[in-house]
Amino acid sequence: MDFQVPENIQKMKDRVKKFVEEELEPISNQVEKEDKIPEEIVQKMRDMGLFGISIPKEYGGLGLGTLGECLIYEELSKTNACFRTRIGTNNGIGSQGILIDGTEEQKRKYLPKIASGEWTACFALTEPEAGSDAANIKTRAELKGDHFVLNGSKIFITNGDIADVATVFAVTDPEKKAKGGITAFIVEKTYPGFKVGKLEKKMGLRGSHTAELIFDNCIVPKENVIGGDKMIGYGFKTAMKVLDKGRLTMGACAMGTAQKLLELSVKFVKQRHQFGRPIANFQGIQFMLAELATEIYAARQMVYHAAWLRDKLGTSIIKEASMVKLFCTELANKAARIALEVHGGEGYIKGCPVERFYRDVRLTRIYEGTSEIQKLVIAREIFKEYN
Ligand SMILES: Cc1cc2nc3c(=O)[nH]c(=O)nc-3n(C[C@H](O)[C@H](O)[C@H](O)COP(=O)(O)OP(=O)(O)OC[C@H]3O[C@@H](n4cnc5c(N)ncnc54)[C@H](O)[C@@H]3O)c2cc1C
Repeated sequence: MDFQVPENIQKMKDRVKKFVEEELEPISNQVEKEDKIPEEIVQKMRDMGLFGISIPKEYGGLGLGTLGECLIYEELSKTNACFRTRIGTNNGIGSQGILIDGTEEQKRKYLPKIASGEWTACFALTEPEAGSDAANIKTRAELKGDHFVLNGSKIFITNGDIADVATVFAVTDPEKKAKGGITAFIVEKTYPGFKVGKLEKKMGLRGSHTAELIFDNCIVPKENVIGGDKMIGYGFKTAMKVLDKGRLTMGACAMGTAQKLLELSVKFVKQRHQFGRPIANFQGIQFMLAELATEIYAARQMVYHAAWLRDKLGTSIIKEASMVKLFCTELANKAARIALEVHGGEGYIKGCPVERFYRDVRLTRIYEGTSEIQKLVIAREIFKEYN
């Protein structure tokens, strides 16, 4: 493995670091209060190309690959998580189905708009009765002439309320379900029968919205089956491929947040005095932070290595992506606990970034597959590997 970060990626990472420090962090608390990212900030993200970090240049993206996306997310996750989430569905779960399995025509039609941020994309898999057990979805798609008719609903859809286009998974053959009976569709918000339902009030991640999507006899042209006719029934595989990359990049986000929490903690313990000296002098404090720094170092190597593997090998990093998500998201939660611990009462008070990170990182262990689901995937893969 080459440990040298390519120059173009390093340059973009440095630009994002500056953007975070000078423009995003100063408005973090305002965004938290207003539950909204100012439009001029979204426009700056578009201008920087942040909506299409790893989308290939031929489809309008920056073409920085998975490693580039991970390094940029590492920086972007050192502030309010909603900023990364705003661009996250375009770079990740909202575009990847089209990029990985879409026809050339679908890629040319949708990816440039998604990569530029002109359109927002989302990913609609979860339903009231199908979360971890995603194969159990009930949303139905029936072929009627030259179009499919979709009926059902999706819940907890990130950016669902602002999305112009959604990757939607629906059952085309109830007998076969995930084994040849689930199809992935590209659904535009203007299609008849598509509606945004209720917006959730969440524990954290304010500034990013989570919506219900309703399909009430929603008309979707047949040519909007991801991958065309030959992919009818094979959408569940598309969903899993999309989630592999999502899990890896989610790990990168969690690792970046863990690093930020470590930095905040070190700064705080050096200036906070108790018993006549900085609390940084107490070995009990030092040990917690030393252990955390060591685990972050390990997490970073995992993220970079898995990203490098994906760029080199394509999509086959199922086990590694789950390992990265499991390790890094659990670590970020540990980092938040330690950061709160060393900040004492101040860490519990609104306005202190630690308080916000503590709530926001909890989500990383839930979406794109809970920690338990990552363990199931890893176990399945190692049982196949070591006979
Ligand atoms: C803010 C937010 C944003 C989201 N964004 C999106 C999105 O954009 N698109 C989308 O499609 N979905 C999205 N989701 C949904 C998310 O992916 C699911 O919430 C997640 O997969 C867990 O499903 P569930 O909530 O139904 O929990 P459940 O599946 O009901 O799980 C409940 C608990 O049981 C455990 N469990 C379940 N099965 C097993 C098992 N076999 N073995 C051991 N333990 C098990 C789980 O780990 C968990 O602890 C989002 C969720 C949230 C909260």
